Amino acid sequence: MSHSLLRQLPSVSQLLESQTGQALMTKFGQSLTTEAVRQVINQLREQILKSENGTRPDVSPEATLDKITAFLHQTTSPTLFPVINATGVVIHTNLGRATLSPAAQQAVQKAAAGYSNLEFDVPTGKRGSRSLHAQSLLQQVTGAQAAHVVNNTASAVLLMLSALCQGREVIISRGQLVEIGGGFRVPDVMKQSGVKLVEVGTTNRTHLRDYEQAINENTAAILVAHHSNFKIVGFTTEPSLQELSRLAHQHDIPLLYDQGSGCLIDTTPFGLEAEPTVQAGVLAGCDLLAFSGDKLLGGPQAGIMVGRSDLVEACRKHPLARAVRPDKLCLAALSATLLHFLKEEALREIPVWRMISMPLETVETRAQNWLSQCQTASFSASIIDGVSTVGGGTLPGTTIPTRLLALNTERVDDFATQLRLHPARVISRIQDDQILLDPRTVLPEQDQHLIKALLQVDNPA
Ligand SMILES: *Cc1c(COP(=O)(O)O)cnc(C)c1O
Repeated sequence: MSHSLLRQLPSVSQLLESQTGQALMTKFGQSLTTEAVRQVINQLREQILKSENGTRPDVSPEATLDKITAFLHQTTSPTLFPVINATGVVIHTNLGRATLSPAAQQAVQKAAAGYSNLEFDVPTGKRGSRSLHAQSLLQQVTGAQAAHVVNNTASAVLLMLSALCQGREVIISRGQLVEIGGGFRVPDVMKQSGVKLVEVGTTNRTHLRDYEQAINENTAAILVAHHSNFKIVGFTTEPSLQELSRLAHQHDIPLLYDQGSGCLIDTTPFGLEAEPTVQAGVLAGCDLLAFSGDKLLGGPQAGIMVGRSDLVEACRKHPLARAVRPDKLCLAALSATLLHFLKEEALREIPVWRMISMPLETVETRAQNWLSQCQTASFSASIIDGVSTVGGGTLPGTTIPTRLLALNTERVDDFATQLRLHPARVISRIQDDQILLDPRTVLPEQDQHLIKALLQVDNPA
């Protein structure tokens, strides 16, 4: 019996020559389509052989072509796709950190769509500098003398240590020998750049005199690394940036600062603790600072270096600079994002800041709106108090009060999985056997998709 079914399997050429087969070839190309046809036929053959008396697969040409179409759509769909971030973590590294402002998105689109003056000086018709594009904006926004952009902060730190300190000693507090996440360990990066790490102080307390005693003729710099994703509380001390810069300058060495977050705005008006700002680091006398473009700056992935012109120039000229240079899409998005700070419209235009500064009433209104659209659902939903977090290794331990849509269902884990797998790709949070959805991090234009996902997962057709 299985043999007769095997004989009914359509042939590769029959499927490829059919009207649907031809259309698939036009759409997906000959090679992918032929491969898909072979694979689907093989799958059917195996099914027939396995299911001696069981359910028999439909081997009609129509059904087989449907399978081939589905196979092709599946194998050619991008592995990187949009998701809805309902977790309440604003800068979620696993979900791509900052989302770009409309202006930054348009800048990317323009830079992507055609040629540009990336390294071309239009007035003279000669070669220009890629490094120029975000430079003046960064100088204006941070107050630093000079700026250079690379592809992330890890490479910015690697570059600055390689260019300025190779083969010499760099002093760092034991309290700052941290792992930032995603495998960025300050001590490893230091070793990689060929500097000798000189650890001073203890995990919780490092004094100015500890640094002072470690300085010798082979010292290249003092490095300060922002703790970022953790907090040492209790009996702790660390000298201020001002004190360290005074000490460094007395000994004629630079103070390097891995600032990390790229915060340019005072965070305290939003009920958050004070995140150190880049401008404060510059004012305190840091000679070179490094920070990310896609954390509190709210732009694309980038590593930004700002500081003294001679140091920035040394980094720019180092051979590694070429290996870690940013692409034109990054520079386009970064410039557009920086302009928002200059125009003092960051809170309104930059999604990260719009989310952080979103008033509780606005969050409440959106949660109420979601709730009212879930009246027909079989789960019971309510609105509860909760907290959002900034994330991205910034402001550890501080939270923003929020209002959450809480779903009570029998099958919390399964429901959360179904939400993730739904075409809207809703990423939620599970806490106390409830599914929690935070409107703060959901883009307003995603509200309808989120509701649709909730109702469809609740009531699969
Ligand atoms: C986030 C962070 C980094 C790593 O930044 P990337 O841009 O992800 O490479 C390094 N140092 C500090 C202090 C950070 O906060």
